[in-house]
Amino acid sequence: IRDKETERKDVNTDKIEREEEKIQIGELKSGINLGGLCSKSECLAAQAKSLVWTNIGLKECFTVNSVDCDDKTFLCPNCNNPVKSISHVRFINSEFSIRISNDSNKDESNNNLVAKGNQSKATYLIRPGHSYELQATEIKQRTNVLEELRLRSEKAMDSDEMRKLVNTLKQDGIKVVTPKLKGGDRINEKSKNDYGGNYDRMFDIGRFTILCKNKTKLDTAVQVLQKADTFGMIVSEDKDYFNNQSKTHHRFHNIKLFVPKHEIYIEMQATLEHYTTLKGHSIIENYELSHLYYEVIRAWDTNNTEYKDLKEASDETLTKINDIICEWMSEKNIARMADRYRIHLNDGIVEPLQLKGKTDEDFKQSIPLKLAQFTYNQLSQFKPKTLKGKAIYMILFNYYKTFIIGEDKLANYSDIPTILQDARIKEIEKEDTIILQALETYVPLHATNEPFLEQDNEEGKAFDCHEHVIEFIENKCDTNQVMIIQGKSGSGKSLYGRYLEEKLWERFNKQADTLQQQGHIPVFISLSKFYNKSDLKKNIDNDITIDESQLILQALQSKSKYIHEDIRDKFQFVFILDGFDEVFRLYNKHNDNFTKYFYDRFKLNEWDAKVIVTCRSNALSEENIKQVLIGDNNNTSKLYLLPFSTNQINNYIEKFVNNIRDKSKSNKHKVNWTVGQYDDALKKYPSLYKMVQEPFLLRLILTVLPSLSKNHYIGVNISKAQLYEAFLNQWIDEHVQDISQKLNELK
Ligand SMILES: [Zn+2]
Repeated sequence: IRDKETERKDVNTDKIEREEEKIQIGELKSGINLGGLCSKSECLAAQAKSLVWTNIGLKECFTVNSVDCDDKTFLCPNCNNPVKSISHVRFINSEFSIRISNDSNKDESNNNLVAKGNQSKATYLIRPGHSYELQATEIKQRTNVLEELRLRSEKAMDSDEMRKLVNTLKQDGIKVVTPKLKGGDRINEKSKNDYGGNYDRMFDIGRFTILCKNKTKLDTAVQVLQKADTFGMIVSEDKDYFNNQSKTHHRFHNIKLFVPKHEIYIEMQATLEHYTTLKGHSIIENYELSHLYYEVIRAWDTNNTEYKDLKEASDETLTKINDIICEWMSEKNIARMADRYRIHLNDGIVEPLQLKGKTDEDFKQSIPLKLAQFTYNQLSQFKPKTLKGKAIYMILFNYYKTFIIGEDKLANYSDIPTILQDARIKEIEKEDTIILQALETYVPLHATNEPFLEQDNEEGKAFDCHEHVIEFIENKCDTNQVMIIQGKSGSGKSLYGRYLEEKLWERFNKQADTLQQQGHIPVFISLSKFYNKSDLKKNIDNDITIDESQLILQALQSKSKYIHEDIRDKFQFVFILDGFDEVFRLYNKHNDNFTKYFYDRFKLNEWDAKVIVTCRSNALSEENIKQVLIGDNNNTSKLYLLPFSTNQINNYIEKFVNNIRDKSKSNKHKVNWTVGQYDDALKKYPSLYKMVQEPFLLRLILTVLPSLSKNHYIGVNISKAQLYEAFLNQWIDEHVQDISQKLNELK
């Protein structure tokens, strides 16, 4: 570091000598710095005859002698050996004085005073043979009276000296902002907290903010400020928080100027235009957030250990937000953080449970509550568009998730779709691997609006089942909320339910990506699983009571613990209630409230939902269907699934063959049947050909047909029972092979 000192007029020139430029070793810091030559001959600092410095901080009175110095206080920063002779003292960012203390003629006058001042940097020689008393104290305003501070600040800011300085900056295209003097009440409150009522440590009453377009302009501005003595002012403190990150200060170059005429310190804060959060000058989105957040947490009693973690996390979060604003966080990391922002986050913020039922009085007394409210409001209302805004949003959201809501609870409703889709995949993988395979070979089903007889040829009146269901879901008619899908066992009702669920999720995700209105969330509910399971209790009469009104919520909650009843009014749903026939007996038995209609008993009107119920044909009487599934609603849609047509069968066989081929690609030795082979084989067994109209059996038949045809003569009648047995045997064979293969791999 090179350093040049300016001449001091207030000091007797006989007693002070100008300092030569020298290389300096050791860190120079605020307060008293002692400089000397290291005498250890091996030390490189000694060989270079460089000054070595040590800092002893602020001192009321510190006696120093050029040779007789305390071994412990002054060690060479390079070799750590005591420095034997001190030749220099440098005061930094303090109010200081230096006196000769061994003069015999001590009196009340200032005769022994060598120097006194408040320059941010001042260096003096320590002459041999003298003892000096050094004093360095923190910079203080010259008055403790608030009104006086305001008056002097006003005058100083309007003084000729200051005007000239400000104009010099402005002429160079640098923006100088004069914030309004703060109101009395505001000062009182702030000072009480910050300074314990001591106004002489208050420097932000008179303040200029200097905003520069770029780093070069900033360096220029700082240089002008550092030469403030040419305008008749004294640079008393010079702290570079712009290039050196500080935990306690914003990213400014801070310079305190003393205006001698008015005996007041004025603070100059220089930074870049796009870092400031100053009202009217900030380009930061929601620039007030960091101030407001600070206001909430500033009054925190630091001795309170109950909220230690929350306080630490809050402080850290504020620091991160400020680091984004002034780019202490790298551009890359800001972009990475911003990338996680999604527009749906705003609408989906879950209100913290702790806020419910709280009064204004509660908020006044609790910082954690105030914080919860503040962050909730910010996250719900702040809709960032810029990178920095989005990054700040995500910092606050992550904090909210962990410290306000809690890791084990839902923080955002927009997480629900992902949570439910993950749960669905787990559910299918765990319980329904057959469904998973069947979905891969799905062939569109056909349906009619009216029941049909097997001998009828219904193909003429038939339509695509899925298209029809989608029309029903998109139909906004309030009275058309329920659709009943009936079909024979094995006609593919459950499979269609899962297929529909998959397609609706695909649609939902597509809409979410294109920022359209949110689509329906499909929820497949296997009634046999949930109707039995839901809150089984036995009352005195040994009758089973089921809380039917909670059935839907419980089914949802069984999919994820994050589901809370508040999601009712957050989404539109499609509930696919599969297999009503399987629970009908239980449902009928459990009729304690004399309501028969399922929609009422399951309280489906509490949801914004379309409901699709699947039911096996002829399992319920017409009368039961009318009372239980249709009720008084004449608008209920009804679909009847048709058996597979020849076209559908062929279509299916093709998909089946392709699917098998894709899966066995890795296994070259396995020889698979072709479509033609399946066709030929099916023709040879008339009883099988009848069964293939049912999608479920078709899959079964195709799976076992190659082995079946080896064991049965052509034309023989094969029964369903034989078919199941063959399927079961083959399934076991394959899986035993799998298992033994895995065991072999382990050996
Ligand atoms: Zn040394």
